[in-house]
Amino acid sequence: MDAEQMFDADVAIVGYGPSGVSAANFLGAYGIKTIVLERDMGVYQRARAVTVNDWTLRCYQSVGLDRELLKDMEPTQVMRWSTYKGRELARLKLGLSQIGQPTANMIYQPKMEQTLRAGVERYSDKVEVRFGAEVVGLEQDRDAVRIASKDIASGEMTVARVKYALACDGGSSFVRRTLGVPLIGSTLDTTWVVIDARVKGWWPNRHMLTFWTDRFRPVVDIPLALGNHRWEFPLNPDESEKDFETEEQLWTLLAELGIGSDQIEIHQSAFYKHHVRRAEYWRVGRVCLLGDAAHLMPPWAGQGMQSGIRDAFNISWKLREVLNGRLPETLLDTYEVERAPNVEMLTQSSLALGRLIKREMGRGEMIRTFITTTLSRLGLGVSPERFRPPSIARGWLSGAVGEKSAVGRMIPQPIVWSSRGQRGPLDGWLGDCMTMIGVGENPENLLSPEEKDAWKALGLSFLTLKSPTDRTGPEAALIDVDGTLLRWMRGYRTDAIILRPDRFVVASRPTGLGVPPCLDML
Ligand SMILES: Cc1cc2nc3c(=O)[nH]c(=O)nc-3n(C[C@H](O)[C@H](O)[C@H](O)COP(=O)(O)OP(=O)(O)OC[C@H]3O[C@@H](n4cnc5c(N)ncnc54)[C@H](O)[C@@H]3O)c2cc1C
Repeated sequence: MDAEQMFDADVAIVGYGPSGVSAANFLGAYGIKTIVLERDMGVYQRARAVTVNDWTLRCYQSVGLDRELLKDMEPTQVMRWSTYKGRELARLKLGLSQIGQPTANMIYQPKMEQTLRAGVERYSDKVEVRFGAEVVGLEQDRDAVRIASKDIASGEMTVARVKYALACDGGSSFVRRTLGVPLIGSTLDTTWVVIDARVKGWWPNRHMLTFWTDRFRPVVDIPLALGNHRWEFPLNPDESEKDFETEEQLWTLLAELGIGSDQIEIHQSAFYKHHVRRAEYWRVGRVCLLGDAAHLMPPWAGQGMQSGIRDAFNISWKLREVLNGRLPETLLDTYEVERAPNVEMLTQSSLALGRLIKREMGRGEMIRTFITTTLSRLGLGVSPERFRPPSIARGWLSGAVGEKSAVGRMIPQPIVWSSRGQRGPLDGWLGDCMTMIGVGENPENLLSPEEKDAWKALGLSFLTLKSPTDRTGPEAALIDVDGTLLRWMRGYRTDAIILRPDRFVVASRPTGLGVPPCLDML
C-alpha cells in the first residue's frame, strides 16, 4: 500500500453546522476528498442566525448556490432604529450592493442549512458525510491527523486518518479543547430571551428590521424569512429566566410592542448570554479552527455565522493549493492573519451596536457609531460612494497595501457582457483559480516571463475588461457596460489586477505583479 492510500480522505471536517457545511461545499467543488463527522442526525432546528450579507452570498455564488439560497431569503429593505414612542432615530434603506448580491437578507437558518447540505450532495463522490458520529479523540503528527469518532447509535469506534482537519464544532469545540487552545475573552452579563414565532397576521411595518432602542428594554425585532419572526429581549437585573419560562410570561413582553396571538403563534424560545471570545490561535499543525470554534461574538451585527462561512471560504482554496502542492503549507498561516482582524472588527462593531440599542451613548456618539459600524464597517453597500468592500491588510498579498492600493481589497461585481453578447455577473467568468484582469489589453503581456511562469503554475487565467465604447483591444474581452469595475480600478490607479479565488486582489500594477511569498511573511 503506498502512502497516499493510507489516508481515508484529504480533509476531515468536524461539525456540520453552517461553518462545516460551507467548508464541505467549497472543498467538494474543488474536488478534494473530504469526510464530515457530525454528532447529530439532522439540522439543528433552533434558528440562531437571522441575516446573510452580500459577501457571504458571493462565497456561495462561487459554488453555484447563491440563487438557490436566495429563494428562501427575503431581502432586508429597511433597517430602522426607533424608540418605543415611535421616534425614528435612524433608518437605512438597502438594495443590491456593488458586490453584486442583495446587501442584507433575512434567512431562516434551518432551511438555509438544508439547502447547503443538499449542495454538498452534488459532490457525493468526494465528500462523505457521517451523521451520528461524535468525535471523541484527535491526534496528529508531522504527516497526518487521526480522528476517532463514536457512532452514537451502535457505539462503534472508527478512526479516520486524514491530511488536514477543520474544527467546525461550535463554541464549546471538542477539537479546540483537545488541542489545548485557550479560549480568551469574556461573557456578557445580560441574559437575553429570544422568541421565535410563526406569523399569522400582519402588523404595521412587520417587514422592517427594527431595533427598539431603549435604556431599560431594548428589543431586536426581526422579520425572518418564510413566515417567521424573531424578538430578542434582554432581562433586566431584577429579572431571571424563571420570569419568562411560560408562553403567558412571553406574551407580556410582546404585548409591550402591541403583538398578540392574532398576529403570531409562538414557536420556540431560548435564553442566551453573549460571548466576546476567541481562540488564542486558529491553527495547530494540520488542524484549523473555524467559525464559533475560533471566535464568538454578540449577535447585534448579525455576523457570527457569516464569519464562519467566510473562514471556510478562506481556508478551503488555501488547502487546495497546499494539497495539490502548488503552494507550501505555510500558506495556511495566512488564514488567521487574514481572517482574525475582520472578525475582531465585526466583534467591536457588534458591541457598539449593542450599546447603541441600549442607548448607552449620547446622540453624537450614536450617530458616529451608526456611521462607522453599520454603514462602512459592516460593508453595507448603501451607495456606490459608500461602498466599502471587505479588505485584508496582511496576508497572502503582493506589494503595498493601503488607502491608495487595490491590493487586499475585494473587487466589485458588475454585470458584464462578453464580446459575443452573453450577459451575467462578473464572477461567472472568473472560475475558481487565480484570474488576471487587464483594462483594454490582454494582461498576459504585462507579466515578465518569470512572473508568467509562476502564476501559470497556480492556474492563472486572463481576462480583458473594456468599456462599451472601446473599439481597440482583443476581441475576446468582457464589457463593463456601466463601468463599475473600470471606475473602481481607476480609483486605485491600476490597469491590471490579479485576483485570488476569493475575489480579493492579490497583486496589481504598478505595485508589483509577482506571486507573493508564503514564508517569512508574518
Ligand atoms: C440569538 C443568536 C442570534 C444570532 N444571530 C446571528 C446572525 O444574525 N447572523 C450571524 O451570522 N450569526 C448569528 N448568530 C451566530 C450563529 O448562530 C453562529 O455563529 C453559528 O451558528 C456558528 O456556526 P458553526 O458552524 O461555527 O457552529 P455550530 O452552529 O455550533 O455548529 C457546530 C456543529 O458541530 C457539531 N459538533 C459539536 N461537537 C461535535 C463533536 N464532538 N463531534 C461531531 N460533531 C460535533 C454540532 O452538533 C453542530 O452541528 C447568532 C447566534 C445567536 C445565539
